[in-house]
Amino acid sequence: MKDKNWKNYGLETQAIRSGQHRTHEDEHSLPIFATSSYVFKNAEEAALRFTGQKPGNIYSRFTNPTVNAFQERLAYMEGGERCLAFASGMAAIMAVGMGLLKSGDHVVCSRGVFGNTVLLFQNYFGKFGVETDFVDLIDTKAWESAIKPNTRFLFLETPSNPLTEIADIELLATIAHRNSCLLIVDNCFCTPVLQKPFELGADIVIHSATKYIDGQGRCVGGAIIASNEIIEKAIYPFLRTGGATMSPFNAWVFLSGLETLAVRMKAHCDNAFALAKWLTQFPSVSKVHYPGLPSHAQHELAKRQQSHFGGIVSFELRGGKEQAWKLIDATEMISITANLGDVKTTITHPATTTHGRLTPEVRKLAGITDGLVRVSVGLENIEDIKNDLARTF
Ligand SMILES: *Cc1c(COP(=O)(O)O)cnc(C)c1O
Repeated sequence: MKDKNWKNYGLETQAIRSGQHRTHEDEHSLPIFATSSYVFKNAEEAALRFTGQKPGNIYSRFTNPTVNAFQERLAYMEGGERCLAFASGMAAIMAVGMGLLKSGDHVVCSRGVFGNTVLLFQNYFGKFGVETDFVDLIDTKAWESAIKPNTRFLFLETPSNPLTEIADIELLATIAHRNSCLLIVDNCFCTPVLQKPFELGADIVIHSATKYIDGQGRCVGGAIIASNEIIEKAIYPFLRTGGATMSPFNAWVFLSGLETLAVRMKAHCDNAFALAKWLTQFPSVSKVHYPGLPSHAQHELAKRQQSHFGGIVSFELRGGKEQAWKLIDATEMISITANLGDVKTTITHPATTTHGRLTPEVRKLAGITDGLVRVSVGLENIEDIKNDLARTF
């Protein structure tokens, strides 16, 4: 099993079998290596490991067998060359910026990305002389015309949160490469089970492992998957020096999360699809946002680009904020929390939580109405989820 190449195996098999290198103890399940450092046979071996002339572990800020197993497994599943794990999804995005950007560089980013990603580019990379322009995720012309000679990469999430808009990854990869830029895709919402950005031309894939990869809301973590060259030159040196490392315990939790990811994603999608269709029948619901509905503006693109439509459903209530809060407060089972990708169904009012710091004008531009409710559909019985949401209908 040790040096097996899992490349030609199915994703479900990679998720369960790859990344594990059994030790002399013959353990069946992967152990947690709770050790900060490693011993060398002699001074010469220590020297060779530090220079990288001899492979092997050095120090758990940048080499740990449990974290390595997670990295290897996720790289196989995404179909990428190398993966590096980080302390959180945000730490992974920070590492991409720190590794690839320098003062005077320019970034084009979707307006519809995770709120802290916007703040990171604007407030922190901006402080060091990196300029970011934000564009509409689905406006391909806007992406192309925002690119400047000093643009280093394009950054997006698809589907977007919370409106589930879909970007054409293949088209944006072509535009990026035509302009000598990289395309970075945050694949958190789909996971490699539903969407393979590398097959569509993306150069770097980002994950918040906190969401579906964990799947049960326990640990915070993140990852970057890219070519050997990008990882070696830009990302690994920053991880080694910057130290936003994933802990071995978290890696161990995420490893078992990956093992059930394919079945969970399918079940999340089935429940979400059923819920989205069911929601369209209520007169008090003015719009349901779900890529699986034929009424979704990028339904055809979603069918082409994803193997299923995802676990997030958003809908707009005619009664605005008052009705949205009423519906949320009437739930008896569903968790009122901003996290997503959990086996537990969670519900959020974006206008007053995740998007509450935006001005009303910017919020309106982003399509976040006061009546909008986002549900991360979990794996409870679908009838119980419907009944819990229907208490005010
Ligand atoms: C949560 C999230 C992040 C940030 O990940 P953390 O693990 O919370 O740091 C980044 N991108 C997306 C799409 C997310 O949902």
